Amino acid sequence: MSQWVIRPLVFGTIEVKKEQLTTGLDVGVPITVPYLGFYLTDGRNKVLCDTGINAKYIVDGKAWAGNPAAGGQEWVLKALAAAEVGPDEIDVVIYSHLHNDHAGNCHLFPRARHVFQDAEWKDLLDPLPSMVIRGDFDQSLIPEMKNLDCQRLVGDGELFAGLSIILTPGHTAGSQCLLVSTRRGVYIIAGDTIHVLPIAFPSMTEMTLLDGKKMKITPAPKHWGAAVPSSLVYNHYAWYRSVYRIQALLTGPEYLVPGHEPSIVDKVFG
Ligand SMILES: [Zn+2]
Repeated sequence: MSQWVIRPLVFGTIEVKKEQLTTGLDVGVPITVPYLGFYLTDGRNKVLCDTGINAKYIVDGKAWAGNPAAGGQEWVLKALAAAEVGPDEIDVVIYSHLHNDHAGNCHLFPRARHVFQDAEWKDLLDPLPSMVIRGDFDQSLIPEMKNLDCQRLVGDGELFAGLSIILTPGHTAGSQCLLVSTRRGVYIIAGDTIHVLPIAFPSMTEMTLLDGKKMKITPAPKHWGAAVPSSLVYNHYAWYRSVYRIQALLTGPEYLVPGHEPSIVDKVFG
């Protein structure tokens, strides 16, 4: 049984309004969340999940929806150095999805195999007008990725012993989660299918922020059900099904690793 270790890497930060992540709750309350990547190793293979935002997508200090943001390749290189791994050592980059804050620095890993869902590639090639307006995908990524060794997946699969992928559409058509076996159990790296913990655990009354401080938050009313969508869901039917699937696979809330969760930045899983 392979045992992996997962190290969250901070590739930048963005200050959003809380209701952009948990629709209808704590309207107008600012919250700073990280752009995250994850370094995974089983002692032999070196895998990176996501590559953060490219600095060119941050204009006048602002990124998605005009929110103040910081990030770029210096953040990526610094975070990797702190994890004691060089970009040339990464064997495989797995993308939770190809939004520009998750795939923006693919060029730093020319030696790696780059793995994403085929449906995600199709949306990058031909995004909906709403995606273009918001700049979710950046099409300058297309020629960059065509220069790389890319593997397109269709659905679920096992990439390594102890490291599997499940397709979880909803946030985007080709969003996928990583199921990672560690000596403590199986963790689910959820990407933006679940940006922050209260999306999948809507009765939460407190969040831990980047500085370690706690913030009171409003729990969702019971009749809202088992999950609260963010403002970034393109297919709500698919999204709810994906979240139910993730929740059924989780053995406990501590095994969920969301794509922008501030409380996990200093943790190591496994
Ligand atoms: Zn996204």
